[in-house]
Amino acid sequence: MANTTYEPVVGFEIHVELKTASKMFCGCKNDPFFAPAPNTYTCPVCLGLPGALPVPNKKAVEWTIMLGLALGCRIPLFSKFDRKHYFYPDLPKGYQISQYDQPLAVDGKLGDVRIKRVHLEEDTAKLMHTSLEGENVSLVDFNRSGVPLVEIVTEPDIRSGEQAKELLKKIHQIIKYLGISDADMEKGSMRLEPNISVRKSGAKDLPPYKVEVKNINSFNFAKRAIEFETDRHIAMLGSGEMPAQENRGWNEQKGVTIAQRSKEEAEDYRYFPDPDIPPMRWTEEYVKKLAGQLPELPDAKVERLQKSYGLSQLLAWQIADTRHRADFFEEAADAGRKTNIEAKTIANRIVNKQADLATVSADEFIQSLVAEKEVTQLPQAEFDGIITSVLSENEKAVTDYKNGKEQSLMFLLGQVQKKLKGKAPVPQVLAQLKKVMKG
Ligand code: ZN
Ligand code: MN
Repeated sequence: MANTTYEPVVGFEIHVELKTASKMFCGCKNDPFFAPAPNTYTCPVCLGLPGALPVPNKKAVEWTIMLGLALGCRIPLFSKFDRKHYFYPDLPKGYQISQYDQPLAVDGKLGDVRIKRVHLEEDTAKLMHTSLEGENVSLVDFNRSGVPLVEIVTEPDIRSGEQAKELLKKIHQIIKYLGISDADMEKGSMRLEPNISVRKSGAKDLPPYKVEVKNINSFNFAKRAIEFETDRHIAMLGSGEMPAQENRGWNEQKGVTIAQRSKEEAEDYRYFPDPDIPPMRWTEEYVKKLAGQLPELPDAKVERLQKSYGLSQLLAWQIADTRHRADFFEEAADAGRKTNIEAKTIANRIVNKQADLATVSADEFIQSLVAEKEVTQLPQAEFDGIITSVLSENEKAVTDYKNGKEQSLMFLLGQVQKKLKGKAPVPQVLAQLKKVMKG
C-alpha cells in the first residue's frame, strides 16, 4: 500500500438564496438578514400552517432557469415541485418544497466540471440555540422560512482543493453578474457543501463512500476542508481502514472537520409531487427569451475586452471581475478616446484604484488622468524649478523640517500643489522635496 497514490474525488452542493422581493411561495418580504426582529416576515404559508396554499414566485423560477443557462445547462420543458419529507424544528410542515426528479435545469458544464442539476426549493427557518432565564433553549426565527433557495449540484469532477476554490469563485461571479443573489457567504446567502472521497489515482469507479462537509462559509475553508479530508482518508486507507460515510462540520478555529452524524444508508425523504402546485411547462421560445435576457458573462467579457481594447488577458480578467467595474472601464475608455489616454492605462489605473470607483464618474476619472498626464509631462527642468522656488520662498518650513518637524513637509507639498493647481503627482513631489532638502 505504501506506494499507492490517491486522488480526491469531490463534488459540491451549493445553496444560494435568491434576492427576489418576496418569498418563494407567499407574499412575505424576503429580507431575512436585515429584518427588524425575529418572526416579522411571516404568514400562514411560510409558517407551515395546515391548509395554507403555496403560490410559486415567477421571478425565482425565471432566475433559476437563467442561472441554469449561464452554467451551460439544458432546460427541460417540463418541471415540477416535490415534497421532501423530514422532521426538524426549522421545518414545521414536516416537508420542504423542493424538486426531485424534474429539476429546472440539468447537464451543465463549467470548465472541467459537469453541473448535474440546478433546482429551486425553499429555505428553512433559522434555529438559535441559546439560554433564556438560565435555561438552554432553541428559538426559531421564521424570517428565513420560505426564502427562494437555489441548489446547484455538481458531478464529482473536482480533483483538488484549489480547483474547488476556482470553481466556486467562478460560480459566485456568475451569480453576481446575473444579479440574482447577494451570494454573501458571511450572511449565509451562499452555502457550500463539498462531498469528498479519495480513490487510487487513475481509477474510474467512484469510491464506495463519501463524506459531506456541511455549511462551509468561505471558498478558502472549502479548499482547506477538502485538503484536510483528503489527507485523513488517505491515512485511513493506507492503514487498511475505510472512512465512514458521514456528515462532518468544519471547525474554523482548529482548521479540522468534526464528525456530526453517520449516514449508513440513503435517507428516505418519501418525495412526491406537491399536489398544491401545478407542474410547469415551458416552450422553446420562452426558454430562448430568457436566454436572451442573460447579461454578457465573465468569460465572454474577458475575451471581448482583450479584442476590443487590446488588454492583456490578466488585465481583462481583473477588469471583468465585477460587472460594475467592467462597465466603468468601458465608459471611461470611451471618454478616454477623445483625450488620447490609452485603454490599457485606464484599465491599469482602475485595477489599482478600486476604492474610488464608487464615488467618481467615468468622466471625472478620465479628467483626473488627463490632469496627471499634463503635470507628469512637465519638462523635468520646469518641475525642478517649481520645487526649488517653493523651497526658497519658505525657508522657515525648510528649517523646521530639517529640525524634525514632519508636518512641514506637508506644508511644502501644499505650496507645490498651489503652483500646479492641485495636479501635482504627490509621490514624485514628496521624493523631490526630500531629495533637495537633504542635498
Ligand atoms: Zn409568508
Ligand atoms: Mn437543498
